[in-house]
Amino acid sequence: MLAFLLLPFLALIPAFIASSKGRSFFLWWLYGMALLIFALPHSLLVSTNVKVLEKKSIEDGSMRQCPSCAELVKVEAVVCRFCQRDLPAVEMAPKTREKPEGEMLILMEKHGMHFDGFNYHYNGQEFPTFRAALEMAQDLPVTWGRER
Ligand SMILES: [Zn+2]
Repeated sequence: MLAFLLLPFLALIPAFIASSKGRSFFLWWLYGMALLIFALPHSLLVSTNVKVLEKKSIEDGSMRQCPSCAELVKVEAVVCRFCQRDLPAVEMAPKTREKPEGEMLILMEKHGMHFDGFNYHYNGQEFPTFRAALEMAQDLPVTWGRER
C-alpha cells in the first residue's frame, strides 16, 4: 500500500533523469508509473537527445552556433573552441522571454480576473479556457512576452 502511494513520486526519478537528457518528462513519468523497475535503469542508460538539448540551450540564450563551423559554443565565447576562429561579438541585450503562466495568472488576478471553476471572468466577459483569457490579457496595461 505504501509503495503504491509512493509510486507517483518514485516515478519522478526516471522522469527527471530522462528529461535532463532532452527526453519527454511526462512520458517518462508515465513509463515510471507503469514499469518503474525498468524505467529507472532505462533512464540512466538511454542516450542523450543532443539535438533537443542544443535547441534548448540556444533558446535559453546560454549557447549559440559558431558561424564558421556550426558547432555550439557558449554565448560569452570570443573564440570558437572547435575551429579556433574568432566569433562575432554578441550584444548582450536582455532576451524578451515569455512570462511563465503562473506569473501571468497573478497579473490577471490583479486586474480582477477570476476563475469560477468553469470559466474565466474578466470585465463582464467569459473565457472558456485559460488560453483564451490569456490572449485577452495581452491587452492589459502590462507588457509581457509576446506570444509566438
Ligand atoms: Zn567554430
